[in-house]
Amino acid sequence: MKKLLVIDDEASTRDLLKLSLEMEGYTVFVAEDGPKGLEIFARENPSVVLTDIKMPGMDGIEVLRRIKEQSPDAEVIVITGHGEMTLAIEALKLEASDFISKPVSDESLNIALRRAEEKIWLRNRLREYTEDLERLVKETSEELVKRHELEHNLIQSSMDGIIANDRQGNIIIFNEGAERIHGYTQEEAVSKIHVTQLYPEGQARQIKKMIYGNEYGGPGRLINYSVEVLTNTGKLVPILLSATIIDDKGEEVATVGHFKDMREVKRLEEELVTSERMVAVGQTTAGIAHGVKNILHGMKLGAFMIDTGFDKEKPESIRKGWDLVRKNINRISKMTKEMLSLASTTPPAFEVCSLNEIVEEVCELMAEEANRRGIRLVLELDPSLTQVTVDPDGIHTCLLNLVTNAIEAFPEDASGGQVTVSSRDEGGAGVHLQVRDTGQGMSEEIRERVLENLFTTKGARGTGLGLAITQKIVHEHGGTIQVESEPKKGSCFTIILPE
Ligand code: ADP
Ligand code: MG
Repeated sequence: MKKLLVIDDEASTRDLLKLSLEMEGYTVFVAEDGPKGLEIFARENPSVVLTDIKMPGMDGIEVLRRIKEQSPDAEVIVITGHGEMTLAIEALKLEASDFISKPVSDESLNIALRRAEEKIWLRNRLREYTEDLERLVKETSEELVKRHELEHNLIQSSMDGIIANDRQGNIIIFNEGAERIHGYTQEEAVSKIHVTQLYPEGQARQIKKMIYGNEYGGPGRLINYSVEVLTNTGKLVPILLSATIIDDKGEEVATVGHFKDMREVKRLEEELVTSERMVAVGQTTAGIAHGVKNILHGMKLGAFMIDTGFDKEKPESIRKGWDLVRKNINRISKMTKEMLSLASTTPPAFEVCSLNEIVEEVCELMAEEANRRGIRLVLELDPSLTQVTVDPDGIHTCLLNLVTNAIEAFPEDASGGQVTVSSRDEGGAGVHLQVRDTGQGMSEEIRERVLENLFTTKGARGTGLGLAITQKIVHEHGGTIQVESEPKKGSCFTIILPE
């Protein structure tokens, strides 16, 4: 009877699977965690393993990795929970035969098991065949060709592409799987095309080197090498390649390659990226809607005041209302500008300029506002900082955002507060631009989120885009941004630009 091992930390899943699999005629072993499962695997050597992915301690991925290390031919089916697509894909990459999702239905279980059984059967036949192949290649009498017809059919029906070439690189075997991957028919391929035509320029030669070399599964073998092959129309298809050299009494006669089509795995991966992007889009849209709603609220209030002013002939109310409307027009225009600059893909306009000059410009621009609030704005410029290559407008924007935030870190009537802007040439460690304030500081939770798009603690007065833009510009310069802060003591933002 066929042996099967179930590894799952949930007793109910274990029992259920054991029951239904025994009815299918398997001898079922169960384990409640990875280490116990591996122990049973080593002892009983079951042909199929069903393992949960999420388990405390050793997870299913690790179990899969170790089982495949011990016996690459074991068929491992992983059981995934809802939303564990990333893990499922990782498992497929590690050569899991299949994945089924929880709750496990009889139907998906049966399909997965049937596929695993088929693979085992095919592989056994293929092994026999491969051992026999040297004869097929060498002897060409009618008689032998007939004898090999059965095995030939087996090769043909394998899901994977199987291609063999002789020493000169001429294709001698090209199965249906290979047809599906490469787009050539067997008639077009066998004896007609050269193995190098199946790969991008130069790739075949490199693969040959790897087969002969030691690093990828020992000399004469290559195991699960991830590579792209060429179709008849010049398209690239990702595959996993395993290859063996067939020799006869030390004389090399042919090379056989197994091509595992990875398009489906790649597609799943791309789908995952798309769905993650959709989540990000959703969050951004919600953030924008929130900001716009705040602004709209201010505008409605303004309009209401203007209306009342006209009705009751109160010019004071009209003036106040109009003030409010104008302020909110400014807000929304600032927000749109910022969003556009965040979404812009034009590269920065680099030019040679003086960073100290940019710092001075920004401080001049902010001097009045700082003064109005009773904040001292101090400059500490490094005189040894000479010309650098940056996008001056971009760096200007960054510093303006940091200094604005620093000033906003104080209450309206802060006296005794200080904002220090400094530049420093750190030699090999890059150029540092630092904005330090003695304002309200931030809690750890806030500090961790400040660089996020649309994150603001300023309600309608903030857009939450300033630091996101700053970070984008700094990254475009190949630099980094550091944030330190202590509640009630102050904050310190440092931009580090490469020299
Ligand atoms: P906004 O200023 O529009 O809120 P930013 O991206 O510029 O957006 O800043 C995000 C948030 O980071 C601010 O709302 C604030 O909570 C926090 N923050 C930024 N700079 C400072 C600072 N110097 N001191 C305290 N908090 C700050
Ligand atoms: Mg800001």
